[in-house]
Amino acid sequence: TAKEISRDSYIVYTPDLEQRASKNLLLQSELRNALKQDQLAIHYQPVVTGDGKLVAAEALLRWYHPEHGYISPAEFIPYAERNGFINTLSEWVITDVCRFINDAIKHGYAVPRISINISAKQFNQVDFVSSFLETISQLKVSATQLQLELTEHLLLTELSIIQSKFEELRRAGVAIAIDDFGTGYSSLSYLQHLPLAQLKIDQSFVQQIGCGAKDDAIITTIVSMAHALELEVVAEGVETLNQRNFLINTGCDRFQGYLWSKPVAEAEFVELLSAGAVIPATAIALKKTEQ
Ligand code: C2E
Ligand code: MG
Ligand code: MG
Ligand code: MG
Repeated sequence: TAKEISRDSYIVYTPDLEQRASKNLLLQSELRNALKQDQLAIHYQPVVTGDGKLVAAEALLRWYHPEHGYISPAEFIPYAERNGFINTLSEWVITDVCRFINDAIKHGYAVPRISINISAKQFNQVDFVSSFLETISQLKVSATQLQLELTEHLLLTELSIIQSKFEELRRAGVAIAIDDFGTGYSSLSYLQHLPLAQLKIDQSFVQQIGCGAKDDAIITTIVSMAHALELEVVAEGVETLNQRNFLINTGCDRFQGYLWSKPVAEAEFVELLSAGAVIPATAIALKKTEQ
């Protein structure tokens, strides 16, 4: 009967569900080992000005599993959030970024501000700010070396709570960016009342540049709104010269994307630091064909 069919239809186990269940088991047992067995690394992606000057970088977590290969943070971060492992993981990220900053400074590199992603779930814990500031002070890294990236999901939390946390970070010298801007819930009045440094336009908008007047208008609007609020605008996921040129024309301040550089391992990143600038990939390709 129809009733039976509809009852059955939502307990059908698709291969997809099975895959997800086994993936969860894999993550559960393996993520803890990953930390102990040195399978995690931080890669750094340059943030540049329109002419390629390297002015900041984003720290992105990488997991190389000995059997399963590369596992994307987009996959295991949400899992870690659900399973209470995010604090341990994040503590490792913060510590490793601080270790890198100290190392690089000791070797004479001018290290720009490094951005660290923090999940809303973790940020919402009452003691997040104090324990973060405590950690970096113990590791002797200046708060002005760091920026935190938070997504709009955070803005679902009561304004006064976020406000006081942001202000504490800001007073200490930590910059704050709203990541993946435009994809989530965002109240303009929230943005106005928070001590933010940057809005990062989500890459889904950037990748639609040139595909239609409406897509282009969204970006133009985000940029002018951000500037009205005196925030810096960073475009993420810039892959083509066409996207870059459009973004420069709209007045976008900072750029991040494969056009300049993928996230790279420490050794490669310090080379970029000593060069001080990153040449767009297409310019390199053009040069090669000229030769
Ligand atoms: P996100 O913070 O928005 O980071 C930007 C993502 O875009 C990164 O993906 C980066 O590799 C990718 N990307 C950069 N430029 C381009 C481009 O030109 N084209 C394309 N297609 N992609 C580009 P990734 O590294 O896979 O990270 C995915 C997400 O995982 C991050 O998004 C962030 O939300 C989360 N994540 C990564 N590391 C951490 C971490 O240490 N802690 C937390 N809580 N989340 C993290
Ligand atoms: Mg980010
Ligand atoms: Mg983003
Ligand atoms: Mg993202």
